[in-house]
Amino acid sequence: MRLTFLFSILIATTSCFTQSANKANSADQVITSKEALRIETILSSDSMEGRKTGTPGIDKAATFISNEFKKVGLKTFNNEQDYRQAFTMVKPKQVSFSGMLDGIALDPKNVVVFTSATELKVDNKAGYKKVYIKPGANLVREALEIIGQKENRIIVVDTSFSKSFPILLRVKRTLFKSPNNFIFVLTQTDPAVYNITATHEFEEQQLANVVGVLPGKSKKNEYVIFSGHYDHLGIGKPANGDSIFNGANDDAAGTTAVIMLARYYKALGNNERTLIFTTFTAEEIGGFGSQYFSRQLDPNKVVAMFNIEMIGTESKWGKASAYITGYEKTNMGSILEKNLAGSSFKFYPDPYTDQQLFYRSDNATLARLGVPAHTISTSKMDNEPNYHKVTDEIGTLDMVNMAEIIKAIATSARSIVGGVDTPSRVKVDELR
Ligand SMILES: [Zn+2]
Repeated sequence: MRLTFLFSILIATTSCFTQSANKANSADQVITSKEALRIETILSSDSMEGRKTGTPGIDKAATFISNEFKKVGLKTFNNEQDYRQAFTMVKPKQVSFSGMLDGIALDPKNVVVFTSATELKVDNKAGYKKVYIKPGANLVREALEIIGQKENRIIVVDTSFSKSFPILLRVKRTLFKSPNNFIFVLTQTDPAVYNITATHEFEEQQLANVVGVLPGKSKKNEYVIFSGHYDHLGIGKPANGDSIFNGANDDAAGTTAVIMLARYYKALGNNERTLIFTTFTAEEIGGFGSQYFSRQLDPNKVVAMFNIEMIGTESKWGKASAYITGYEKTNMGSILEKNLAGSSFKFYPDPYTDQQLFYRSDNATLARLGVPAHTISTSKMDNEPNYHKVTDEIGTLDMVNMAEIIKAIATSARSIVGGVDTPSRVKVDELR
């Protein structure tokens, strides 16, 4: 779970949660604290160097997760060769800029060029589609939407955004590598004739989610996602001689759950819907892994997303309980509770709503596309002593309770995985 999410803040200012099948392969046999301990120990070991995005440490973690998916017998996503869903991010640095708009030289301050090209020359004959950001719009949200598209654009930004326009430079710090260009111009006029030349230098970063699939028996085109993020904060300043942010709880715990649920459902072999097990990269630095993932499938086919974050410690209510972020946004929570009826495990709505946790993990990306996507966690966000510290180590986790939580997730998901219940969609317009 992110400390805060840059874009969420930007958006806000401009407008890291018993029993089951009545069959032989029961959760009690497959989801054990011993197995949780095995996986957790590896993911949170010092040899993974805190799994920071773009480092050899996280690459080791990706290899480990891939090997686990292979052992389980998952298929790859979209029949790709690898469980790794690789993509490239660029950090652009503008070296030079010149431009004319209707015969008048453009002030570089009033233009932000989003490109992955070293040299870019564009004029009005280049066929760029012109779009407008009008007064009262949410500049950052609209800009993010535009730069996700697969068409060149020139974006005319109303001068009422003069003050907030430089925020686009912050959005530009890390971009998905793209063949398309997006030129934002702050201007009062509707440009007819223009030419713009920009040169950039780039730092490139290779990233990868790790994704495995268990095809559904009958409803193959209806997806249920189980996710967690496997990146963390890396190596930092030493505190009491320790400098590795192991991220045992955040979010090796969620990643462990995803791997164990994959093994459980494979053993069960009765999922009517297609199950996608994904471990995201780059959650801590802005959610780029889930953003990339969300563009590789049709969100309308995703009936539910169980994002799992920080389930290694007891919740504020003690053992055998967890909370669900964004509880009120869909009826998924009530479906999960229904499936837990008769067990001693309890799900609660997120008690830390002032912290906006719904918007601070990978579920939010899918939720913004309408998907019933929630994060399940036990982290005491008002009092979790090791959160985002070098002390987030396996010794601070309760592996027995954690295994119970993973079993409860499996039980609670039963009717959704079985194709019986379909949670209501997130009302995108009501999100902040
Ligand atoms: Zn975190």
